[in-house]
Amino acid sequence: MNGIDAIVFALIDSNVKSVTGVPGFPITKLMEKVREKIGSEWSVNEKVALEIALGSSVCGERSAVITKHVGMNVLADPLVSSTTHTIGAGVVVIAGDDPGIEKSQNEQDSRFYGLLAEVPVFDPVNPGTAYQCIIEAFVLSEKTSAPVIIRLTDRLLQTAGDFSRGSTSSPMAGFDKKMWHITMKGKHQLFHKTSYPLMCEYSGGSLLNTIKKRGRIGIISSGFPSYIVDSVVPDDVSHLSLVAVNPLPMELVTSFIDEHERVLVVEETEPVIEKQVTGVFGKLTGHMPYGKVEEGDIRKALDNIGKNVISNEIIPQTIEQRGARPICDNCPYLPLYDAVKETGVPVAGDVGCVILASAPPLSLIDAAFSLGGAISTASGFYRKGIALIGDFALAHSGINGLVNAVHNRHDVVVVVLQNEVSAMTGGQPVPDLTGLVSSYIGDTQILDLEKPVPDLKKLLAEKLKKKGMSVILARGKCPVY
Ligand code: SF4
Repeated sequence: MNGIDAIVFALIDSNVKSVTGVPGFPITKLMEKVREKIGSEWSVNEKVALEIALGSSVCGERSAVITKHVGMNVLADPLVSSTTHTIGAGVVVIAGDDPGIEKSQNEQDSRFYGLLAEVPVFDPVNPGTAYQCIIEAFVLSEKTSAPVIIRLTDRLLQTAGDFSRGSTSSPMAGFDKKMWHITMKGKHQLFHKTSYPLMCEYSGGSLLNTIKKRGRIGIISSGFPSYIVDSVVPDDVSHLSLVAVNPLPMELVTSFIDEHERVLVVEETEPVIEKQVTGVFGKLTGHMPYGKVEEGDIRKALDNIGKNVISNEIIPQTIEQRGARPICDNCPYLPLYDAVKETGVPVAGDVGCVILASAPPLSLIDAAFSLGGAISTASGFYRKGIALIGDFALAHSGINGLVNAVHNRHDVVVVVLQNEVSAMTGGQPVPDLTGLVSSYIGDTQILDLEKPVPDLKKLLAEKLKKKGMSVILARGKCPVY
């Protein structure tokens, strides 16, 4: 079985009743498998997904949230607050990172959210540890009254391996409303008096962290890279593999460092462990690359372990080297994209399919910072510009930008690519916001691209001349989904 199977069985064996999530690489396949076995729903955004999970927790049901790494930014608000607020039944946030940026807008490391929110983070090595992490995470979440993060990557989800299923367990904690008698400051003090020490005690003694002492040189690794280290490391190199990675088991780590002459840290994608200790080598010293770790990187680092610093010239990859991800030849939005380009005004995009219009030869988008961000970004333009936004992005968080634009009297032409699916993540259905938008924005026009359409360039020019907000709901059928 693979990492996906291990997680699904662990959720079943943990008696999880509710799973919420937002599609995206690398976790869409995991969620689809979960949906075959457990009550679950695709949420419109990650903050909503976590808030639903917290609601289930308060009512005594275990719940999980499945999100890609960038979704962690969106759910960070309730995540950080929930630790001092306290929860009831266990809540586990499964975050899929994308080292190497195969299908994402950045390469951020979800383990950082453990440090920020002060919650435990597990970084499993293989399907066996992934299963065990989920099982232990629910128990730990209930003991510490805080959510727990499990960080995964695509390679872990796809890797085959054995695991043994244990007996099922049920929630052992209820939500205690006594915390409403304590001030906000008092909640943080209580957290550091009770919950955080329990988290440290757990990670310090966790049997999921393993150590093999063999020689003068040592490697500290975390997550899937530990699997790679085990396959390449010579017999005389020691290995500390960390799975319970936050709070960092400091005593274990520092004594491992003290017992070895040189210690290399191997982790994806950022130097999260490396930054918390001294006297080690890794990304900060140039021994290891940022992002995805390959066997050759570890071998090269060990060859150079005698050096204190390695100078690595970083040459940023260009679109020409990689090749632009093309827009489908039969995309119904191509004529609209051409018309938008001809207006010559600034264009804010989104990170759905619209982002494909950013690369040459179209080079249509001026900026696209986040999912749902097009309308707010265009609200900041010095002149009336265009926001190109998908219908999923509008439901995700773009609707907030629309409300703000109306409230603060911004001038934007919003073009919603209304194809009723989240085409970038596998064709999941999207809420229809036609009624909501058309009742809120007076100048809302439905444009059915399946039928003969007016002169698009002229239409956009008219909308750009008007003051205030204009919305074009451009309906097209995505031929892929
Ligand atoms: S997946 Fe659909 S919406 Fe996206 S570019 Fe292709 S045809 Fe257009």
